[in-house]
Amino acid sequence: MATSNDCLFCKIVAGEIPNDTVYETDSVLAFRDISPRAAVHVLVIPKSHEDTLAEMAADDAGSVAELFAAAGEVARIEGVDQTGYRLVSNVGSDGGQEVFHVHVHVLGGQQLGPVGPLRD
Ligand code: AMP
Ligand code: ZN
Repeated sequence: MATSNDCLFCKIVAGEIPNDTVYETDSVLAFRDISPRAAVHVLVIPKSHEDTLAEMAADDAGSVAELFAAAGEVARIEGVDQTGYRLVSNVGSDGGQEVFHVHVHVLGGQQLGPVGPLRD
């Protein structure tokens, strides 16, 4: 499994940093965001380090399918699959990405409003 030195999420996968796990498979880990921005805020990550979703898709499209299937499972576990939720993946500086290990935010449990913010 690919790991990256000094990657926060690789350290979480390795058990070096504690996490509040919601769901786990052989290839995916889902855990609560430490700084939740919605009533439900869970991060879904591949256990193997990947820099970007695009690279992940190019290397192994099935692994991206597994990631999104896990996000759907998290929504079911968290009880928001019927009320609705939002999947977000921030990419790069303009996208506001802080951790450069692929992850999808599962946000829900409240009315989220329009996608934003949009700035000039
Ligand atoms: P992003 O800005 O898309 O890269 O998202 C990174 C997310 O990781 C942020 O929402 C942080 O709150 C979250 N985060 C940072 N450290 C931890 C941690 N130790 N456990 C859980 N979530 C974390
Ligand atoms: Zn990593």
